[in-house]
Amino acid sequence: MVKWTTCTHLALTSIAAVWTANAIPSVTALARFRSAIFPKLHGIGIEDHVAITFDDGPDPLSTPAFLNELDRLKWRATFFVLAERVLSWPYLLKEMVDAGHEVAVHGLSHKVHLLSDPFTTTQEMKRAKGIIEEVGGISPKWFRPPHGILSTADLLACSSTGLHPILWSCWGKEWLASSTPRSVLAELRKELRGGATVLLHDSDFTSAVGSWRSSLGALSGLAEMIEQMGLRTGPLYEHWSCRHWLDPWDSNQG
Ligand SMILES: [Zn+2]
Repeated sequence: MVKWTTCTHLALTSIAAVWTANAIPSVTALARFRSAIFPKLHGIGIEDHVAITFDDGPDPLSTPAFLNELDRLKWRATFFVLAERVLSWPYLLKEMVDAGHEVAVHGLSHKVHLLSDPFTTTQEMKRAKGIIEEVGGISPKWFRPPHGILSTADLLACSSTGLHPILWSCWGKEWLASSTPRSVLAELRKELRGGATVLLHDSDFTSAVGSWRSSLGALSGLAEMIEQMGLRTGPLYEHWSCRHWLDPWDSNQG
């Protein structure tokens, strides 16, 4: 019994050590920490530019409305898509690409990889990237982990697949059931400035039902705020100078 108990303890200790090692990068989910230590990972780009990004699509109920509104605003954005949803509605990914938007990887599914091993995580990321390349005819450059929780396995998978991890610096919290376009704008205003990366969602797949309407309804007000600040908008690939955009871990740039 003593032997069994010792073995069990050692096994649990090993599992805890592996989990801890895998979880260390997830502290980047703490906005203030990552902003101070990794401004590029935090999405801080050139001073006169705001990157507009959307997560969790495509979604046949909501993504077309976002594409129409972005077209009306003459904005181009970056869509972090879930590859399994791309397989369900491939035409939506093609519409994003045809409209000049950038497409990036949010995952194969909306799964956090804190408990996944590097091999499995890499296989999933390769599959997600491959689906996007095959359907969209483009090569995605970015990976944003679900819930912003970045694991060591994610980082190793990014290195293997040539993707760059990127989070955000400004969000609207439109996923809350209580959100409205006004509340989203108020939330965005707190962190909106030159160099910001804005996170919104073009789907309520992981949020309160119908919350995408708050995100959509805030876009025209966001456009007014950005115009009043004298800033430009665009996708992430325009958010850094050519010299720096490839290294989101570079803390010397902001
Ligand atoms: Zn998400």
